[in-house]
Amino acid sequence: MNKLKYKRVLLKLSGEVFAGERKYGIDPKILGFFAKEVKKAHSIGSQIAMVIGGGNIFRGTSASANGMDRVAADYSGMLATVMNALAFQAALESIGVPCRVQTAIEMKAIAEPYIKLKAIRHLEKGRVVIFAAGTGNPYFTTDTAAALRAAEIDADVLFKCTKVDGVYNCDPVHNKDAQKYTEIRYINVLKKQLKVMDSTAISLCMDNHIPLVVFNVYKPGNIEKAVLGQKVGTTIKE
Ligand code: UDP
Repeated sequence: MNKLKYKRVLLKLSGEVFAGERKYGIDPKILGFFAKEVKKAHSIGSQIAMVIGGGNIFRGTSASANGMDRVAADYSGMLATVMNALAFQAALESIGVPCRVQTAIEMKAIAEPYIKLKAIRHLEKGRVVIFAAGTGNPYFTTDTAAALRAAEIDADVLFKCTKVDGVYNCDPVHNKDAQKYTEIRYINVLKKQLKVMDSTAISLCMDNHIPLVVFNVYKPGNIEKAVLGQKVGTTIKE
């Protein structure tokens, strides 16, 4: 068996990726693709915890910009992440990957409440664990929830899965001269205000020495490669 570089990983998928070409909601085909990608990394022995966003269904900041109370909007956003988590759990279970969902806001009828030690036990038993409902608090993002949970469960790394191949000095979609970093320090991501994750999430990783790997999740095999420590995307570290 290949040697894993990272045994326990926290994988952050934004909700947007679940929408596929529909731009809204959940595309079952895309869900199936990501489930298989996670299965590949899981089957070589890595312990996989996940945080999934909710942007494909509801984003608190956009709703509050349109006049909705910010706190109510953020709670709605957190509920959207639970829908995505349940959908992804079903997709994983359907291909034989055991999975548990834990929520930061209690909703016992559908998922376990977040309990750190229980999450670690699931991971040790080979179950994927999805942390849903963000941090449970308004004014945060699921990127921050991912950094927080990564620190709590003592993850070896945080994978930020995106649509692009890594971190660039400017937006590669709009600028053909954009340059990709292979490695960059946390402090430079913050100073240059590079659009990787929000500053709270980057700071949490920096303060807790959790390396971040940013890569394109649409490329088949990338999650597995990242777990093995093969070159994918950009690594952010000290
Ligand atoms: N959210 C929140 N607290 C959290 C995490 C998320 O209030 O700890 C809300 C926030 O409104 C956010 C929405 O949930 O807009 C969906 O999360 P996010 O935008 O991070 O999802 P993504 O962009 O990753 O799909």
